[in-house]
Amino acid sequence: MVSRVIPVDPFDLVIFGGTGDLAKRKVIPALFRRYCAGQMPEGARIIGAARSEHDAEEYREFAAESIREFSPGRGCEDGTLEGFLSRLDYVTIDAMGEDGWEELASKMTEDRVRAFYFSVGPGLFGALADKIHAHGMATPEARIVVEKPFGNDLATAKELNATLATHFDEGQIYRIDHYLGKETVQNLMAVRFGNMLFEPLWNSQYVDHIQITVAETVGVGGRGEYYDKSGAMRDMMQNHLMQLLCLIAMEPPARFEPDAVRDEKLKVIRALGDVLPHHLVRGQYDADADHPSYREAVDNPRSKTESYVALKTHINNWRWAGTPFYLRTGKRLKARSSVINVMFKDTPHSIFGEEAGRHANVLSIRLQPNEGITLQVTIKEPGPGGMRLIDVPLDMTFAEALGEEGGDPPDAYERLIMDVIRGNQTLFMRGDEVEAAWAWTDPIIAGWEARGDVPKPYDSGSTGPRDAELLLLRDKREWRGITP
Ligand code: NAP
Repeated sequence: MVSRVIPVDPFDLVIFGGTGDLAKRKVIPALFRRYCAGQMPEGARIIGAARSEHDAEEYREFAAESIREFSPGRGCEDGTLEGFLSRLDYVTIDAMGEDGWEELASKMTEDRVRAFYFSVGPGLFGALADKIHAHGMATPEARIVVEKPFGNDLATAKELNATLATHFDEGQIYRIDHYLGKETVQNLMAVRFGNMLFEPLWNSQYVDHIQITVAETVGVGGRGEYYDKSGAMRDMMQNHLMQLLCLIAMEPPARFEPDAVRDEKLKVIRALGDVLPHHLVRGQYDADADHPSYREAVDNPRSKTESYVALKTHINNWRWAGTPFYLRTGKRLKARSSVINVMFKDTPHSIFGEEAGRHANVLSIRLQPNEGITLQVTIKEPGPGGMRLIDVPLDMTFAEALGEEGGDPPDAYERLIMDVIRGNQTLFMRGDEVEAAWAWTDPIIAGWEARGDVPKPYDSGSTGPRDAELLLLRDKREWRGITP
């Protein structure tokens, strides 16, 4: 099956922070791959913008390097790189000053979609919005793309929403959470709402509990200064895990349309219960032979910021009352693995007797690596010798199911950037969603700050602090393993 490419109209895309890490690793390679897929129409232009002095030729060289490094050999034919690079331009610009703005405005094409990607620190978002407006570029066709972090708490998120709303309608603001751009996330919706099989069982009567794990093997790397002011709760839980929770728990929207979907997600966040102190575990990774400890990495020997958080929460509505949701995320863990496990209840009665053991279905939705969905089902172990039950996976790994012709699914940034151009906000967070997520997160953080909680140390390469295991063991449950 060959993936279908939906054409888009010519557009202008400005990448503020076009020389930065995100542009280099994700945005430019993603645009290149869309070009290779034939989705970048004649006349589409990409303009990098940052303070460093470069001419267009130097910027093209920068882009070529980023593609060679971060998108090697991804299905592009020879000669395509030059074609792509010819679309690129560059403007030296200072978000805080006047340099470059008139030049940028002069490069805009009338009456076509113009997208402004804010790939800069959040402290510049307001200044960029002001300048785009002041220089007459905030036309009805304009849209802005905003990266995380969207605020640091409810107050700052509200302030940021208000600042952006001064010059742009909500329909022009695309708040990126790249987890939502993953193929599996959309497939989760297809599986839930496109099959009769799952939805009738998707509630507290049949689901014992749900686990969401986002495990990283990397440490804080070069982001120590930012990360130590943020921590796992703000950096991951408030946005990525919260979004996954919404998609797994929301009611079926009446239509697969942006506001219908986002209305349902918002209801989930608003129905979230408080997190009790003993339902919360925070951790900090220790050093190992090859890597420094968290505190060394952030150069703060007394840091109380968590590099790991696990919690148990509930969704207080008819569908989910009584079903716990266990969420965990951390750095320097055993494997890189993002997975949602829907743990179904045991059968009410085993006709096979106690010796057959207890078996429950598990639907695993893997976001990375190896995107795919697996349903664990119970069958009879083949062969003679009586009725012995075993669990086997029904694997819906996309690469296998779609065959070689399906190719790699587009990366999240590819999909999300093209959605911006198409004007489809379904996979972007609405302002009220972000605020509701902070409204839930803020009291949890205020609680541990008031208690003076210190994160528990955990071994690098482990599954996190022992207390996180106990969080489930106390409920007679266990985390699924963290496997690559
Ligand atoms: P970065 O590597 O520090 O890049 C920042 C970019 O902004 C550079 O191109 C810089 O170029 C430009 N810049 C800085 N001050 C400017 C100014 N006053 N006017 C115009 N341009 C300016 O940061 P990054 O890692 O790419 O991150 C960018 C944003 O994406 C941040 O909000 C970050 O939180 C978010 N994000 C990043 C990642 C990632 O993987 N890197 C992932 C998720 C979210 P000059 O110095 O030449 O101006």
